[in-house]
Amino acid sequence: MRQVTGPVSKQAWSPDKLRQQFPILQREVGGRPLHYLDNAATTFSPRCVQDAVAHYENHSRSNVQRGMHQLGIEATDAFEAARGSVARYLNAASCDEVIFTSGTTFGVNLAAHCLGQSLQSGDEIVVSQAEHHSNFVPWQQLCQHYGVRMRLIPVLANGSLDLSGLDQVITERCRVVAVSQISNVTGSITDLQTITRQARRHGALVFVDGAQAAPHGPLDVQALDADFYAFSGHKCYGPTGIGALWIRSPVLASLPPFLTGGGMIERVDIQGTRYASGYRRFEAGTPPVAQAIGLGAALDWLMTLPWRGIRAHEQALSRQLLAGLSQVGGLTLLGEAAAQDRAPIFSFDIEACHSHDICQILDGYGVALRGGHHCAQPLMQALGLVATSRASIAVFNTDADIAALLCGLHDAVETLR
Ligand code: PLP
Repeated sequence: MRQVTGPVSKQAWSPDKLRQQFPILQREVGGRPLHYLDNAATTFSPRCVQDAVAHYENHSRSNVQRGMHQLGIEATDAFEAARGSVARYLNAASCDEVIFTSGTTFGVNLAAHCLGQSLQSGDEIVVSQAEHHSNFVPWQQLCQHYGVRMRLIPVLANGSLDLSGLDQVITERCRVVAVSQISNVTGSITDLQTITRQARRHGALVFVDGAQAAPHGPLDVQALDADFYAFSGHKCYGPTGIGALWIRSPVLASLPPFLTGGGMIERVDIQGTRYASGYRRFEAGTPPVAQAIGLGAALDWLMTLPWRGIRAHEQALSRQLLAGLSQVGGLTLLGEAAAQDRAPIFSFDIEACHSHDICQILDGYGVALRGGHHCAQPLMQALGLVATSRASIAVFNTDADIAALLCGLHDAVETLR
């Protein structure tokens, strides 16, 4: 079992130095500087990530875990080194707990599918009403397929989770609790400790959707006391089409495979197949090698950032944004009111202004926002909303991005009313 080790030296940091590492930030939109505030959907890659992918493509491109030649060995080394980077970033106990996936959605589907076979009638699965559809629909389908009851952790008026009746929702019937660590709509930070404690009381497994938490600095899955942790590379400054699912070793060892085929077997006979152990059992077929190497590079890069300084910077931008939004008449902000109590993801509804119109007008200012239901329709239904506008901040954003957003927003509201 390979252990997770490796020293990390921090890079000297300033917003300008950091921005220079992102080639895409040089571009303009409609003749204006780009102000990209849709990072919760997908963020950009620094040059070192692009270089790592290009190096594999131009130097070592070949298949992994089967090549007997030099290129195959180099590709496998780079691929497995990337797994080590994921394990370090998550503080997993071992690389063997890390499965490469295509992203969070795949991770949820894998877990739901593999857990389904052990469910019995009378069992319950608990999710929150604020989940992204990726962490909602697979569980809903599972419940419908196996005749199991799905129960919901409700939300407060601001969209944050209401844990006041948790002991009524997570009971002795509960087998799995699936929640996101940070909401992609409200930016609310889930009190995972309270949820895992209640789940453990009844022996339920805990699945954490880390899609919005993973971009905000190295994690410690062991301290979270969860069983599954899923995230996506493209929200963590890495390539698209790649992500990872961490599963605590004893749980991983107990699960049947999800997809079957090459690469996930120990031995295949005409009579039957013996599956490989560890993460290999869940990685059937040729994996997305270049993307995994890019993800490893992105997480290595994230581990070099001085997170205390980055968080202070993100909070300063959050305060600037919150102050500006509070000046807009008829605006309702979801999530916590104070910058220090939330992640830098801000959804808001403005009376008499549809979010699609707001986003379209802001695009004319070079400001990229997200508008819509954010793949969280159960949450929208609970809040009596159809859509919101959302700004989400990444490490490379500056006060100029927030100023451009606020300026465009005032003009948009004046135009639309
Ligand atoms: N979960 C959350 C909280 C998300 O924000 C997202 C994407 O926005 C997902 C899951 C799905 O991620 P992906 O599309 O990368 O699988």
